[in-house]
Amino acid sequence: MNPPLRDFIRALPKTETHLHIEGALPWHLLRELRPDKYSAPPASWAPDFRFDSFAHFEGELLGYAGDFFTSAERYHACAKAIFEDHLHRNVRYVETSFASGCIDFMNLDGREVCDAIRAAVPEGLEVRIFLGIHHDGYTEKMGPVLESALRWDNLDGIDLHGTEPTPLGDWAPDFWRRARDAGKFTKAHAGEFCGPWFVRDAIEKLGAQRIQHGVRAIEDPEVVAMLRDTGIALDVCPISNVKLRVVPSPGEHPIKQLLDAGVVCTVSTDDPISFGNSIEDEYEFLAGELGFSEKDLARVAANGFQVALKKN
Ligand SMILES: [Zn+2]
Repeated sequence: MNPPLRDFIRALPKTETHLHIEGALPWHLLRELRPDKYSAPPASWAPDFRFDSFAHFEGELLGYAGDFFTSAERYHACAKAIFEDHLHRNVRYVETSFASGCIDFMNLDGREVCDAIRAAVPEGLEVRIFLGIHHDGYTEKMGPVLESALRWDNLDGIDLHGTEPTPLGDWAPDFWRRARDAGKFTKAHAGEFCGPWFVRDAIEKLGAQRIQHGVRAIEDPEVVAMLRDTGIALDVCPISNVKLRVVPSPGEHPIKQLLDAGVVCTVSTDDPISFGNSIEDEYEFLAGELGFSEKDLARVAANGFQVALKKN
């Protein structure tokens, strides 16, 4: 990549609107904690690496998360390092999620974790915090936590996470509706491992106001038209899509077709601890693999600010 383009990308005011906080844990924090186990970054950072499956990816990620996220203070330390890095890269607006599954597994207080992330936000960065919930995440233990989350002041919204083909529980549509009634913004991961039908379901059944990934919408012109007509944006993570084999090859990523069809798309890194990517890498991917001009890149960056949530 030629230096002027890299400089252009660095200088561009950017957003990250699809970022899992557990998946954005800086490697150096993990290495400092467990130098024996994490002396070198994982094989998955290599550009030509491909995960075998979502389960392969998730298994590795949960291993890192289980070793690190043992307290709300650890979430705070992680968030602080992530947000400082954002300012360095000229990222000005961030939407990040933490996983209810991790809170459950690690027996943490979700509200404390949410507050700890909020307390890590530096001056100069706008951050919105989301709680990610798996398709079967409303359990006997977690149901009361999820209900109380709708009243957490520092929580801006909810997101549907996890293995996409897992059947979505009957609790979800009502919970997504009540989240909006409580003033929370609602997202959903869809159209990554399931086809365009699940993007449609996320919009029609959950009422999701933004879709994470959603790239497989390209397989159904009606779903593309629905996204265009409703203005529901896709928070796309091209390098994640390549490494998880959502697209067959980098050059076949459909973000350009989606943009050309009038769908609002942003770009983000998803889980940089697993993909070894920075936000600049995502923009370089668009330029290098898909032929985006500087004007095209600026348009994608502007989309991030267009979808940014205003603070009440
Ligand atoms: Zn994601």
